[in-house]
Amino acid sequence: HLKIEQVTKRFGETEVLKDISLSIPKGAFVALLGPSGCGKSTLLKIIAGLEAPSGGSVHLGGQSLDGVPAYKRDIGVVFQSYALFPHMTVNDNVRFGLDMRAMPKAEAATRVGEALELVKLGGYGERMPSELSGGQQQRVALARSLAIRPRLLLLDEPLSNLDAVLRKSVRVDIRELHERVGATTVMVTHDQEEAMSMADTVAVMAEGRILQLGTPEAIYERPATRFVGGFVGNPP
Ligand code: ATP
Ligand code: MG
Repeated sequence: HLKIEQVTKRFGETEVLKDISLSIPKGAFVALLGPSGCGKSTLLKIIAGLEAPSGGSVHLGGQSLDGVPAYKRDIGVVFQSYALFPHMTVNDNVRFGLDMRAMPKAEAATRVGEALELVKLGGYGERMPSELSGGQQQRVALARSLAIRPRLLLLDEPLSNLDAVLRKSVRVDIRELHERVGATTVMVTHDQEEAMSMADTVAVMAEGRILQLGTPEAIYERPATRFVGGFVGNPP
């Protein structure tokens, strides 16, 4: 369903992504796990259409995304810093992507309501972001990406701004949401426990390459390299 073929990315002299190929079936929940600076966010941005690859291609549902602008890709993105618009209500924040797509008001209102219900924030629509907890704001960001009914959901460290207790509960929320909505999900994290507990498939990255792809169990039990073993907590 999502097919990444030989994607490379250079910033000036530095090659940040080196020949990334990855095939992700429809409905899967994949975690991209790797240390800071290995290229995880860059890969997500290329899939989302927010950065152009230096080489290679991305296909979604059999179609090339080459040259397709981000807002036409039907891809929901939740960024590392999930910044909501502080001067806009929760409803307006969630509706933002729908307004961008010039959706009729009535339909947009229905979608906003549904998306907020999905993240268990029905009834919070008139609040301002500053009147919500960090975890609630995170869920508004999720609702905003769900409102467009994405074919693909990209989550970049969606839990990084939350305290330990909230992390656990939003982890479960995201996983439940995945089961209900069924959108193919790619989540970036540098937390091995998060990756192993949430994803069906883990892709371990380092220095712009994918070192290993497999189920959490397979990667833990049979790490392909010393680095992978060390990183997932099963050193040689
Ligand atoms: P983290 O876990 O810290 O978020 P990451 O794996 O998401 O890290 P990226 O943000 O993809 O890492 O960055 C990968 C490398 O590319 C880093 O060395 C970064 O400095 C570099 N980089 C990212 N964006 C740019 C840019 N716009 N211009 C130049 N270099 C960049
Ligand atoms: Mg990043």
